[in-house]
Amino acid sequence: MSLFGLGSNKNQRTFRPKKNAPSSNKGVQLKKHIDATLGSGNLRDAVRLPPGEELNEWLAVNTVDFFNQVNILYGTLIEFCTPATCPTMTAGSKFEYRWADGVQIKKPIEVSAPKYVEYLMDWIEVQLDDESLFPQKLGTPFPPNFREVVKTIFKRLFRVYAHIYHTHFQKIVSLKEEAHLNTCFKHFTLFTWEFKLIDKAELAPLIDLIESIVTEQKALHYELHKNIALQRRVTISQAEKIQRFQAENADLKKQLSEAQGASSSLAASSSELETLRASQKNLEAKLAEAEQKISEKNSELARKTGEFELKRQTDSDIIQKQQKNLEVFASI
Ligand SMILES: [Zn+2]
Repeated sequence: MSLFGLGSNKNQRTFRPKKNAPSSNKGVQLKKHIDATLGSGNLRDAVRLPPGEELNEWLAVNTVDFFNQVNILYGTLIEFCTPATCPTMTAGSKFEYRWADGVQIKKPIEVSAPKYVEYLMDWIEVQLDDESLFPQKLGTPFPPNFREVVKTIFKRLFRVYAHIYHTHFQKIVSLKEEAHLNTCFKHFTLFTWEFKLIDKAELAPLIDLIESIVTEQKALHYELHKNIALQRRVTISQAEKIQRFQAENADLKKQLSEAQGASSSLAASSSELETLRASQKNLEAKLAEAEQKISEKNSELARKTGEFELKRQTDSDIIQKQQKNLEVFASI
């Protein structure tokens, strides 16, 4: 919802129909941008030219928007701002405005405040309806004097604010409209300040209020930038911390990989040792086997020697016996 939509306020009374934003897609889009940024409560962002947008399109959409705001605000006062209460269009005791449009009324005339506002709003409406000034179709060029016309419109809208603040502020308070009026005027001031639409001399009737708005915005802006700078410093120190962690991490990884290397070479040596041990065992087994075989052979040899000895003995006995027999035989 637009910040400036009065919604169900019973005091709402437009004294002329609301003007629509330029009907091109661009106009509708920019109007949405205004409502969205206002909805976020950030007036400074709300007045800035959105990135990539054309300045004249932005001025045109906002001119219609501010015209409608003043229209609604003054509409709440029409029964209190009459030729009787306000016989002249004043802004305090020091400023009085006389009407001239430079076309039909060339010599300024003194009129009552409601008549002055009527002239003024009629004149603005004629400008907004003039398609050679405010093109309705996207891509139609704005005239060379567009900015001058816009400045005159804002200068005149300002006079309505000046009259309301100086003459009808108490009524606005009793209608509980002051917060709304202040927000509208703050938005108006920041917009005209941003694009330098009103000469400083023209702002004299409300200069204290305007300066407090601008100072407050500058302080907010300063505060915002201080916070951004602080945030940036925090971010940088976090980034440094992360970098340090990453360096430490890389160092740890290096140490780990070195340790893994050492451990794998240790594993390699240990597996070599295992192999050596295994082959030693193998050799020991073979040696034992060989010893076993030697001892078996030795015992076989001993057995065979015994057998041979026994046989030789037996043979020798037989031979001796036969010799004896032979001797006996010979002696016969
Ligand atoms: Zn008045």
